[in-house]
Amino acid sequence: MNFYENLKNEMEELKEKGLLVTVKTLETAQGAWLNIEGKKVLNMCSNNYLNFCNREELKKEAIKAVEKWGVGPGAVRSIAGTLTIHNELEKELAEFKGVEATLVVQSGFNANQAVIPAIVKKGDAILSDELNHASIIDGVRLSKATKYVWKHKDAKDLELKLKEAKENGANTMLVITDGVFSMDGDLAPLPELVEVCEKHGALLMVDDAHGEGVLGKNGRGIVDHYGLHGRVDIEVGTLSKAFGLVGGFIAGKKVLIDYLKQKARPFLFSSSLSPAEAGAGIAAVKLLKDSGEPVEKLWDNGNYFKGKMKELGFDIGQSETPITPVMLYEAKVAKEFSKKLFEEGIFATSIGFPTVPKGKARIRVMISASHTKEDLDFAIEKFEKIGKELNIIK
Ligand code: PMP
Repeated sequence: MNFYENLKNEMEELKEKGLLVTVKTLETAQGAWLNIEGKKVLNMCSNNYLNFCNREELKKEAIKAVEKWGVGPGAVRSIAGTLTIHNELEKELAEFKGVEATLVVQSGFNANQAVIPAIVKKGDAILSDELNHASIIDGVRLSKATKYVWKHKDAKDLELKLKEAKENGANTMLVITDGVFSMDGDLAPLPELVEVCEKHGALLMVDDAHGEGVLGKNGRGIVDHYGLHGRVDIEVGTLSKAFGLVGGFIAGKKVLIDYLKQKARPFLFSSSLSPAEAGAGIAAVKLLKDSGEPVEKLWDNGNYFKGKMKELGFDIGQSETPITPVMLYEAKVAKEFSKKLFEEGIFATSIGFPTVPKGKARIRVMISASHTKEDLDFAIEKFEKIGKELNIIK
C-alpha cells in the first residue's frame, strides 16, 4: 500500500466513525444569515460574537489603513515590518486591558507559540489544565520545560502538581489555563488559581481568546471580570473572535513584552499583521471602549437561548458564557443532528474528537449579538423539532 492510499484509508475510517471534518464554504460575508450551498441559513457557529467581522467602522479603518500603508507589512517585525499602526494597536490594547504593554502577532494560535517556549526552558515547569486549547498544548510541546497536567479547573490538583514540580527542583513554574473553555463555555476558577500561584511563587498565564470582547467591562476579558488586575502575569488574546479580525496578542508587564521581542519566534520569524488588520483592530478597541452595548446584547441573547434550550430538556453542559454546547455524546448523532439542522435552515457544525474528548460530541452553538430574538426563536423551534425526531428530548 502506498503513502497516498494510506491517507485515503485513514480518511475513510474517520468518515465511518462520523469524525471526518467537513468544510462548508460561506458564499456571503459573516453575519447572522449566510448563503451556503446556495441556501439561506441562520449562522449559529461562528466566533463573530459582536458582529464586528462586517461592521462599517472597522471596514472603513481597514480600507484607510490599506490606502496609507498598503496591503502587506513587507517583513517580520524585527527587520522592517513594524509600522506605526502596529505600535498604535499595541498601545490601544494595553490601555484597554489595563496592562503595561502588549505585543501583537499573527493569530491567537501563534501567540501561544510565541510566549510559552520563550519564557520557560529546561529546568523549569509548565502546569497546564487538562482541557487547555490545542494551541497551548502545542506551545507547551515546543518548550523543554517539564510538563505537568492538572485536572480541569481543579485548583487543589494544581497545588499538588506545583508541590511535585518544586520537589523535582523546578526553577520557574508557569501555570497555564484557558480563560473561557471554548468547547464548553465554562470559566477558569481564576481567583483560586491566582491564590495558589501566589502561594507557590508560580507565574500565571491565561489564554482569554473567548473572553476578549465577551467578559468584563465592555469586554475587557476574564481578568477584569474577576477584578484581578495586576495578579495575572500573562494574558494571551485573540483578535479573531469578538474583535472580528485575524490576529493575536500577549499582554503583561513591559519587561516581559520587551523580552518577547528578543525571543519569541513567531515575532522574529513570521511577518507581522497586515495594515488592514492593524487599522481595523484599533477601530475595534475604540468601539468597545465607547460602548458596552454589543457585549450586553451578546449576553442577553446567550441567556435567552440557553434558558429556552434548558426548558426543552437539552443537556447544555455547564456553560457560563454565551457559548452553548448541545451535548449529543456520539459523533454520529452529532453529525446527523447538524445535517438535519442544515436542511431546516440552520448552520451549526458538529464537533467531535480530537476537538473534544471521545464520546463527548456535540453541536456547539455560538450565539452572537447579530442574532435577533426572532432568529433565536427560529433556531429553538428547529432544535426542538430535530431533538424530538432523534429522541434526544421528549
Ligand atoms: N486559544 C483559544 C483558547 C482558542 O479558542 C483559540 C481559537 N480556537 C485560539 C487560541 C486561536 O486563536 P486564533 O484563531 O486567533 O488563532
